[in-house]
Amino acid sequence: MLKVCKFGGTSLKDANSFLIVKNIVKGDMFRKIVVVSAPGKRFKGDYKVTDLLLSYYNDQQNLRVKRQIKQRFIDIVNGLNIDIDLKKEFEKIFDVKGKSKDYVVSRGEYLTAKIMAKILNFKFIDAENILHFKGDKINVKKGINLAKKIDYNCGIVVPGFYGKKGKNIKLFCRGGSDLTGSYLSRFFKAEIYENFTDICGISMINPNLKLPLKFIKNLSFNDFKNLKGLNPSVLQKSAYKPIKRTNCSIFIKNTFNINGNFTRIKRKLKIKKPTIFSISYNNNLLIVTGRKLTKKDGLLKKVKAILKDKNIKFKVVKKRANVLMFLVKNYSELYMVKLMYFKLVLNR
Ligand code: ASP
Repeated sequence: MLKVCKFGGTSLKDANSFLIVKNIVKGDMFRKIVVVSAPGKRFKGDYKVTDLLLSYYNDQQNLRVKRQIKQRFIDIVNGLNIDIDLKKEFEKIFDVKGKSKDYVVSRGEYLTAKIMAKILNFKFIDAENILHFKGDKINVKKGINLAKKIDYNCGIVVPGFYGKKGKNIKLFCRGGSDLTGSYLSRFFKAEIYENFTDICGISMINPNLKLPLKFIKNLSFNDFKNLKGLNPSVLQKSAYKPIKRTNCSIFIKNTFNINGNFTRIKRKLKIKKPTIFSISYNNNLLIVTGRKLTKKDGLLKKVKAILKDKNIKFKVVKKRANVLMFLVKNYSELYMVKLMYFKLVLNR
């Protein structure tokens, strides 16, 4: 059994989080391949390291940003009490002349992986040695062949978010470390791809609404693709694609609540009863996704009844087994989602 574990920026925000990650990885002997993002925000109003690196590249005279980037890593390394020559690394990063934007911006993941490899006593494998772009796509065949030559038995750490195109570093889109994890799962034939974040999976509603959360337990890749209007930062929308034809499952777990709920996403999922996955309301569209939504005893009828009961005017725009869409004008997201969610899911 092999597990690829990817840790997002919120799971790597400071030295303490690195230690939590270390415990998680060491707590399961199958967790042999670790992918990391760059450190994320520590508090409201803080900056992600990737954003700081972007700002630095765009304005290299901005010494404050340079200082902030350095300090983030110095604090982490000091907090972990490890011996890493950050000075040498900083020189390479901040001597920007002749370096591409993608190179500079990718250094957050690069340094994070170096630090993580050190505390785990795993081998650092640079993403540029395994993820090669062919145009805008990753060369999967090449990746599979390169993976065969990498011994991961004692554990490896790979920086997320970038690969190599020709001689240059090339970034994925923002949030792209999720894709790195997925490609590595494919290349190394992992059975499980654990994607660690700061929430217990994919919530059925936008978590920013501050309503009691329920998490989706199981989804197929298709169901995931079909979700609408939810918190996009939990998992990159295309992250399942590299493994969509494999039997690898994605688990979305909370680094800070490892025994809490989680969402599992896999290729095939049998569902017998009408089931709701998500409820959202944006741009006057109320959207419910799920399975068997149009069955006789299904949810279309229920949604209509709830709207009628509240004297809310609506028009059915789409009624498919996996998605119901209603045009309902001029309500707030909170009101509409709460109404549906409480009645359809929480049964209140
Ligand atoms: N650090 C990059 C970002 O902030 C990539 C990632 O987190 O996946 O978008």
